[in-house]
Amino acid sequence: MNSEFSLIARYFTRPTPGAVLGVGDDCALLAPTPGMQLAVSSDMLLEGRHFSPQDSPAGIGHKSLAVNLSDLAAMGATPRWATLAIALPEANDAWLTAFARGFYRMADSYGIELVGGDTTRGALTISITVIGEVPPGQALRRDGAQAGDDVWVSGVIGSAAMALAYRQGRLFMEQVDAARVLPALYLPTPRVELGIALRGIATSAIDISDGLLGDLGHILERSQAGATPVGASLEFAALPTLPVVQNYLHESAARDCVLAGGDDYELCFTAPVGQRDAVRAAAAAAGVTATRIGRITAEPGLVVLGTDGQPLPIRHTGYDHFAA
Ligand code: ADP
Ligand code: MG
Repeated sequence: MNSEFSLIARYFTRPTPGAVLGVGDDCALLAPTPGMQLAVSSDMLLEGRHFSPQDSPAGIGHKSLAVNLSDLAAMGATPRWATLAIALPEANDAWLTAFARGFYRMADSYGIELVGGDTTRGALTISITVIGEVPPGQALRRDGAQAGDDVWVSGVIGSAAMALAYRQGRLFMEQVDAARVLPALYLPTPRVELGIALRGIATSAIDISDGLLGDLGHILERSQAGATPVGASLEFAALPTLPVVQNYLHESAARDCVLAGGDDYELCFTAPVGQRDAVRAAAAAAGVTATRIGRITAEPGLVVLGTDGQPLPIRHTGYDHFAA
């Protein structure tokens, strides 16, 4: 028999040496490292919107924590603690075992401990809150981009959008090519080490969950030159993508996929020109590539230049979760 409490005991209770008190009481008790600020973020994943019923439960466990860790990465915070609120249509042991395996594998990789949550019956819904630590004044906020800064992106972008199109039957790909992009959609890697390594180097950062243009747009809105928001000029040819993007998509579809495709969970960040070597060293230490894709400008607006130096037509500017 699976009562709420036996479920919690069986699947979501593990030792939490980094907490004063973990799962089992009315609250967890946490002792932050003296002098550190806490970075707190929540992300909710709904069946039908963020994943589909056929998706692997281990993958859902991985991704639901990964997207939350990605927010800590984008702040340059060190992951410490998480809570998990989960609604389940039924107590399916095989599903829960696999979900917990994916969740804890991700948690163990990044040193984050599950210290509490809530469990209830209902349509499959996963809501995670993560708590990290960052030294005062060193968080990578959205509002620090300066005119003249370089714009950088980690890893490659556009892969998750291609994988989604493939999975939804909107795009044909050879299996070998599909296998190159599917991990970006189902098993994203949060760039936690990079975020931490960019403390004191990057002037602003965001993780790309809703598409490069939309997410960079958030940095631009928040960062001011005088009284007006800054702008950015990007070079389309500089954007790091897998070769499959060009191999399968014609020009405008490739553009949409790379500029507006969501779910890549790479970091987009800005840094002064004088920090190029430091950015490259930080990326190398974090085991990820960082690519310079453009510049922050004093004039507001976001332009993407083609190889001929002319602005490309831009269709989407991001994914709207409230769109029907
Ligand atoms: P309360 O009724 O006081 O809110 P609950 O009965 O909901 O407490 O939960 C009992 C304990 O189990 C609490 O410590 C809670 O944080 C923890 N918990 C509940 N669900 C989960 C979960 N999915 N993952 C981790 N901990 C959980
Ligand atoms: Mg409760």
